[in-house]
Formats: sequence, structure tokens, C-alpha cells
Amino acid sequence: MIETTPKASSTLQFASAPIETILEVSHLRKTYAKKQALQDVTFSLKAGTSFGFLGPNGAGKSTTMKILTGIIKADSGSVKLFGQELTTDADAVSKYIGYVPQEITLYEKLSAYDNLEFFGQTYGVRGKELKQRIQEVLTQTGLLDRAKDEISTFSGGMKRRINIAAALLHRPKLLILDEPTVGIDPQSRNHIFEMIRELNREGVTIIYSTHYMEEVEVLCDEVAIMDQGMIKAMGPLGELLDRYGDNAIYLEVNGLQELPPLEHVTSTRKEGSGWVLETERMNSVMQHLLQLASTHSWDVKQLTVVRPSLEHVFLRVTGTQLRD
Ligand code: ADP
Repeated sequence: MIETTPKASSTLQFASAPIETILEVSHLRKTYAKKQALQDVTFSLKAGTSFGFLGPNGAGKSTTMKILTGIIKADSGSVKLFGQELTTDADAVSKYIGYVPQEITLYEKLSAYDNLEFFGQTYGVRGKELKQRIQEVLTQTGLLDRAKDEISTFSGGMKRRINIAAALLHRPKLLILDEPTVGIDPQSRNHIFEMIRELNREGVTIIYSTHYMEEVEVLCDEVAIMDQGMIKAMGPLGELLDRYGDNAIYLEVNGLQELPPLEHVTSTRKEGSGWVLETERMNSVMQHLLQLASTHSWDVKQLTVVRPSLEHVFLRVTGTQLRD
């Protein structure tokens, strides 16, 4: 089970200034042929947030992101980015957004540098500024020493890092990444995590989609749990854990075959060689167990409080398990 320490709220970065809402998404719907990909997606985002879209394959994460970046259009609903309607002002807002799609989009026969030069120009960065930005993003990605090498010689993870670098050249205020760590090596994965953290510390708002629970736990301060084209729950990670994660106790006693009846325990399940007991009366159940242990001379191997996990939250709000 992964222990989580939710990041400090992004509001701290803006101590005295009012926090700006940079994205307002209302009632998005989208159907492809007969498949309804988005049913009714509504959420908003404050500047400086690191926002995680968590959901299984097919939940509608990519579709939402493609609508936000203007790549596809929603059937209905609206998107307001930096205070402007996306439908009427896609070009005006695109300069503030960096988008890293799921598929790697690089020219294999060009060097990393030349790829970045090409993408920088498409974002409108040119001349000395572009040269300087290429140096900076290559440094951020840890691939400056590979600048002149052909992309075809790069590993999948390194290509992904260059893809992210390309989306950063124009200094976007909002960076949208669609499952950027799928199928890549651990070193690149760690590097990507560090880059995202650093960008977020510098004030860049992040939208990060993934089906890996632990990525959301380490990277994001707000989470939307998405399933079947809907946001099933949303909020700061800590709040979701408080709201949906049950308090539980793990008990393991050598030689104990069956638990005696316990008051205030709402559910009991076997886990490993012990039991997980869910309760809203943590203290009284703990006391009761300690009494039982003393009365019956239990050989207690473990008696611990289980912290709620995002896995549990996911199960509670969707009714299914998210398999990594
Ligand atoms: P996720 O990113 O969470 O995996 P997607 O947004 O890619 O989810 O997909 C949501 C649903 O829409 C899925 O059922 C998927 O099969 C379907 N879908 C996505 N893109 C297309 C498309 N171009 N044509 C038809 N169906 C699509």
C-alpha cells in the first residue's frame, strides 16, 4: 500500500494575491460514432494546481484533453481558458498551453535539436530566443549532451522527454500531459516526474492524465477520478482520502483462526495473515482489541492503523478496482 503525503496546497504560492481560475469546463459531451466518450464533464482549475486525471483506459481522459487543446470539438458544453471561450478564441489561448499527446510526435531522422527548432517555430518562437529556449529545455530534460543525435537513436523514454521539451519551448502557463509515462524506462519516468514538479514549483499549472494511482499520489495536489466518461469524484487529494477512504485497523495474531465479534466494526476482510477491520470508532475498537489481546494472551504480530489509500477511494467512487 502506498503511503501518501499530499503536497502543500498550491494556494501557498499566491499568499496574498487572489487565486485565478484559469480553466472552466462545463457539461462537456462527446460521442464518437455510437460510442459516448464523455457524458457530462464539468470542472474548474486554479492557477498553479497540479491536477491529476485518474481513470482506466477508455474513461475519457484523452478525449477531455483533446477538447481542451482544441484538437477535437465537443458535441456540447463549453471550455473557458484564461477567461476566454475556447470555441471562439482557440488561437488566442493556444499560446498559453503546452500539450504532450500520448503518441510520440517527432521526426526520427532529425536530431533532437532540429526537432525542437521545428516545433519551436510552429509555436512562434524564433531566432535568439528559440536558441536559448532549446538549450534550456534540453537542460531541463537532462538530454543536452544528446542534442545533435538523431531521434532514431533515442530510447522510448528519451523520445518522450524530447516531446515534453517541445511543448515547453513557448513557456506555456498550462501544461497538459496525456499518460506520459506509459511504456518508458524508470530513469526517464523519474526524470519526467522531477521536471513536472519543478515546472509546477515555477508556477506552471499541470494537467496530468494517468491510470497509475501512485503517479497521482506523488505528483498531484488535486485529483479527478474519471470513469465511463464522467468525473466521479474530484478535489484535493487529502480531502478525497478523508471523504472516501475508510479508517481501518490491521490486526495479525499468531495462531488466531477466527476473530471474535467486535462492536463498531463495519466490515472485516482477510488480508495476508491478518484482517483489515473498517471502523468509524477507531479508538474504542483499538481499546477493545488491546483488552482482548491481554485477556486471551494473544501473540499479536501487528496491530496498526491503515491509512486510507487512493485505491480505496477509487473503489468507493467507481465500484471497481483500477488495475495498474
Ligand atoms: P482514455 O484516455 O481515458 O483512455 P479516451 O478518451 O481515449 O479514454 O476514450 C474514451 C472512449 O471513447 C473509449 O471508449 C474509446 O474507445 C472511445 N474513443 C476514443 N477515441 C475514439 C475515436 N477516434 N473513435 C471512436 N471511439 C473513440
